[in-house]
Amino acid sequence: MSKHEGRVCKKCGAPISKSAVVCPTCGANVKPVYKKVWFWILIVLLLIIIGFASCTASAAKYVSDNTNVISSDTSTSTNASSNASSSAAADSSSAAASSSDKYSITDETVDDSGYYFKLDGTFTNLTNKQITYVQVTYTLYDADGAQIGTALANTNNLDANGTWKFEAISSVQPSEVDSYKLSKVSGF
Ligand SMILES: [Zn+2]
Repeated sequence: MSKHEGRVCKKCGAPISKSAVVCPTCGANVKPVYKKVWFWILIVLLLIIIGFASCTASAAKYVSDNTNVISSDTSTSTNASSNASSSAAADSSSAAASSSDKYSITDETVDDSGYYFKLDGTFTNLTNKQITYVQVTYTLYDADGAQIGTALANTNNLDANGTWKFEAISSVQPSEVDSYKLSKVSGF
């Protein structure tokens, strides 16, 4: 075998040197792929697309982290929000966990079956010590984005690494509440 083993002309099969741009036997273009212009254009385009995707994903995450829109009307709002939230859904759950390493709040569920607005959820103490007093406060907004009240829940002596199923109560009627936001956690 020759010393050019490994690189041969695609057209005629003749061995060619590493630096060759044109096959010495048949004259075919044998530029290696990284020396071709389209290869670099492709790389640059890919980088731009990746940069764009991560930008829009973090913007969508910011929105979905901040305000939880109540989707009682599943036919329209689920479709509208699924596009924005599907890419951010995985991110936002991990972001919520890392925003505080002391506690986590999961399974937020609106209970609008009663006369007053109620928000259920699971609060987990992620520290290794008991918390004497914990209170969570949610701000409630109407369809115009105006604050119309708060919903709060509190408990005593939450165990180290303990879980608390809370029920945040407000005096606002469920039909008035369009969205809610966690505004305060005290006790940590
Ligand atoms: Zn050739």
